[in-house]
Amino acid sequence: MARVAEEWFAVCGGCEVSILDIGEPLLDLLPQLDFVHMPVLMDHKLFGQTGEKSQMEIPEADVGIITGGIRNEENREVAEEMRKKCKTIIALGSCACFGGLPALANMYPVSELCDVYYRETASTDPADNPTEDLPALTDRVYAVGEVIKVDLSLPGCPPVPDLIVEVLTSLLEGKPFNLPERSVCDVCPVKREKKTELTLRRPLQSAEFTPGRYDNMRCLNEQGILCLGPATRAGCQYSLSVGAEEQVPRCIKAYMPCRGCFGPIREGVNPMVDMMGAISSVGLDPKEIEDRMATFNRFIGSGRLRPLPKRR
Ligand code: SF4
Ligand code: SF4
Ligand code: SF4
Repeated sequence: MARVAEEWFAVCGGCEVSILDIGEPLLDLLPQLDFVHMPVLMDHKLFGQTGEKSQMEIPEADVGIITGGIRNEENREVAEEMRKKCKTIIALGSCACFGGLPALANMYPVSELCDVYYRETASTDPADNPTEDLPALTDRVYAVGEVIKVDLSLPGCPPVPDLIVEVLTSLLEGKPFNLPERSVCDVCPVKREKKTELTLRRPLQSAEFTPGRYDNMRCLNEQGILCLGPATRAGCQYSLSVGAEEQVPRCIKAYMPCRGCFGPIREGVNPMVDMMGAISSVGLDPKEIEDRMATFNRFIGSGRLRPLPKRR
């Protein structure tokens, strides 16, 4: 029986829904898991049930699952407590692994963000920044691994339920778990001609495809639909219910381009540079992409995005 603690920081809650989305295999796993702390499911408070304790208290656990990046000082303290109490820490989801979508805010200083949130939007009555009973914001959004040691990272926005099963099963069986260092293109079944005469189309314009025939659909970049598959790590195609030859990356399965949620193929690469090269090589012009910095770093901004010069 493995004791599991779970915490969520700067999140949307989709990662927790992915845990529930495991479906029937979760029933096989549950007898081997003892959830000792999980705010989204259990009423277990950090400072005692009535706030009577002065020290934060997370029970000891074999596995600590963290979703979401670090956005405020409370997140940082709870992450440090999770590290102290859990033998193995899993960063679950792109927000925990790379900052995720909330880390797009790293393109602006906190003071500018607060000006927009609390004073400058048309629908807001201007007010001072709230401070009472609230933890201070950190200077930017951090990936969990930038603040504490992480033992295992499982990206995805949201993460793939069947991969969560694989991770938990590997841990229970004492086996290592690693995603392969391959790109989404490496496991994508579409047809490639490696050149296009087209220009980039507007995001969300529909691709041309034959329903159910991914091997008939032309590569989306070659159709002028920006697809981040060349610079994104494979893994989202993984399924417990079909064999490897039938597995298709999740967005491609919906005839949509990869948005890059699994992050870089390996540590130390720069997906933005790799993507500029990949789309140039098929004849598209990267300069046509508006807001390239945010587009290519949409899910991975924790250590990459920095405040831009003020535009307003
Ligand atoms: S990784 Fe995606 S699904 Fe998970 S918390 Fe972040 S935004 Fe939500
Ligand atoms: S660019 Fe996109 S559509 Fe083309 S092969 Fe790669 S993942 Fe598939
Ligand atoms: S295709 Fe890309 S964006 Fe879509 S789930 Fe897979 S890695 Fe994420």
